[in-house]
Amino acid sequence: MTPASSSPPPFGSVFAEHMAVARFGPDGYSPMSLEPVAPISLHPAAHVLHYASEVFEGLKAHLQPNGRVAIFRLDRHVARMNHSAELLCLPPPPEDLLSEMIMAVVDAARDLVPEPPGSLYLRPTMIGTEANVGAAAVPPSEGMLYVLASPVGDYFSGGIRPLRILVEEDRHRSTAGFGMVKTGGNYAAALRTVLSAKRELSADQVLFAPRGIVTETGASNFMLLDGSSVITSPLDDTYLHGVTRDSVLTLAAALGYRVEEHPLTVSDVIAWAEREDGEAALSGTAAVLAGVGTLIHRGEDLTVGSGGVGPTTLHLREALTDIQTGRANDDFGWLTVV
Ligand SMILES: *Cc1c(COP(=O)(O)O)cnc(C)c1O
Repeated sequence: MTPASSSPPPFGSVFAEHMAVARFGPDGYSPMSLEPVAPISLHPAAHVLHYASEVFEGLKAHLQPNGRVAIFRLDRHVARMNHSAELLCLPPPPEDLLSEMIMAVVDAARDLVPEPPGSLYLRPTMIGTEANVGAAAVPPSEGMLYVLASPVGDYFSGGIRPLRILVEEDRHRSTAGFGMVKTGGNYAAALRTVLSAKRELSADQVLFAPRGIVTETGASNFMLLDGSSVITSPLDDTYLHGVTRDSVLTLAAALGYRVEEHPLTVSDVIAWAEREDGEAALSGTAAVLAGVGTLIHRGEDLTVGSGGVGPTTLHLREALTDIQTGRANDDFGWLTVV
């Protein structure tokens, strides 16, 4: 794509020209190389196609006022990718290889980074490529690690709109242990539930709360907010430990909000929604912090607070994007300038 395009295309559908690639085999990882983004050749028996040996990451680089480009919380995303790989029995890349790959891709695509609120979305991916359908109960002996870059616009290009969220008390998004792995398999497991909520209830997403205990939605973490506090579930192995979640909690505490991490039941959420100043939001790299206006629970629509995107949600969202885009000081050392 050319840097001249004024409105960036739909999220994640256009890619920079180069990706960073490294391969692993029985002897470890190869050095990285920068290669043109092009179809890759896989044997039809490749491990990933049969036994879902895949983990990924999602992070962003933002254009700074001085023209440099800064990657947000690179170390956290690299650490999480290594952890996801370990949990899926894939070999974690040697120290610094993945950071080096991400920085190389950002450097190669620096002229494509859109002005804020746009950014360069980065997608590290690891797959098992060993051709062996007999390898069902062993990890792949060969695989590939690559990093794609995609210029993206404002996630809310149509304007910030409060979301409609179905509260699902019966179905699980994932399982204990697997739920904290950033892997395509968890998206596959949740897809049918999310799709039917969209079709039948015009919901935007599903909040999975099996047996009445809130975990997260199909692709983002969940929190409750008001004028003085932020509350979310404590980290456990059932859900993905969001870097945005951690950033919002850290920032909220620094801004004087009371931050609480304790188990949330569906009744807690409903009681909170019924308060005039109650707010609920979803957090994730793509949307940062998205306000929830309506919860659908047992066939009924419940308005959350005023039904709009709440002031604390907007405040914390802006405080975070100000740091990402260099409009506020990087007090927590979250930016890696390339
Ligand atoms: C990536 C992801 C999130 C959000 O994590 P961030 O680090 O904040 O982007 C939440 N839930 C799931 C299932 C995810 O895959």
